[in-house]
Amino acid sequence: MARERTVVRGIVLRAADTKESDKILTVLTEAGKLTVLAKGARSRRSRVTACTQLLAYSELTLSESRGWQYLSEGNTVELFEAVRRDIELFSLASYFAELTEASALEDVESGAILSLLLNALYALGNLKKPPLQVKAAFELKLMSLIGFEPLADACAYCGRPDPEEPALDIREGVVCCGKCGRGERGLAMPLSPGGLAALRRVLYGDPKRLYSFALAEPDLKKLADAGEAYVHATLERGFKTLDFYKSLQGGGLL
Ligand SMILES: [Zn+2]
Repeated sequence: MARERTVVRGIVLRAADTKESDKILTVLTEAGKLTVLAKGARSRRSRVTACTQLLAYSELTLSESRGWQYLSEGNTVELFEAVRRDIELFSLASYFAELTEASALEDVESGAILSLLLNALYALGNLKKPPLQVKAAFELKLMSLIGFEPLADACAYCGRPDPEEPALDIREGVVCCGKCGRGERGLAMPLSPGGLAALRRVLYGDPKRLYSFALAEPDLKKLADAGEAYVHATLERGFKTLDFYKSLQGGGLL
């Protein structure tokens, strides 16, 4: 009986070596996260090797058998060479992949998450946007896309549209004034007014212009610290790829 074949476009979020020369891939497509077995992908004669690298975005022909998706053909669409050539950018991109894998689900429409990741890699490698800015915007937007959008339109306690000494409460998922809600709130990370404006732009603005804001370095650092802490508080876990990226920065991110 002929196997059913499907063609999907997807990006490799994880590539694990398995027996003989096979690889097990976690791939994000518009239809959600998929597990794909790539037989012989590590053999020198394989024609699918390029498509099975971490962060390769490809058109994949899959055939299903006994509940498994097998990779039968692949054509790369974008390999993000500029990111791949730079150890710091690649380590940050690897964190984006691990974070996306932890956030995306199987069999759930994931077009917005896929676009977010592809645009982040393009912003890092092709547009040369500041890595810290891409990281902050990516983290905050991803949490928003998976249902944890922080309430950022006003102080959650006094209702001021422009909170005084604004902060992001990473446990409650709200913006507040520095002085409001003490005792009730979880853990507030300070933002600058410019950082709050950037946060609102990331959450409510055009997703195609996600990485186009400009912030002074101290303001960007605060926004990035808040974004990273928000991911940690929301998903309740750390990421080895993030630890590695930070080790390349000599312990700090700037
Ligand atoms: Zn307030």
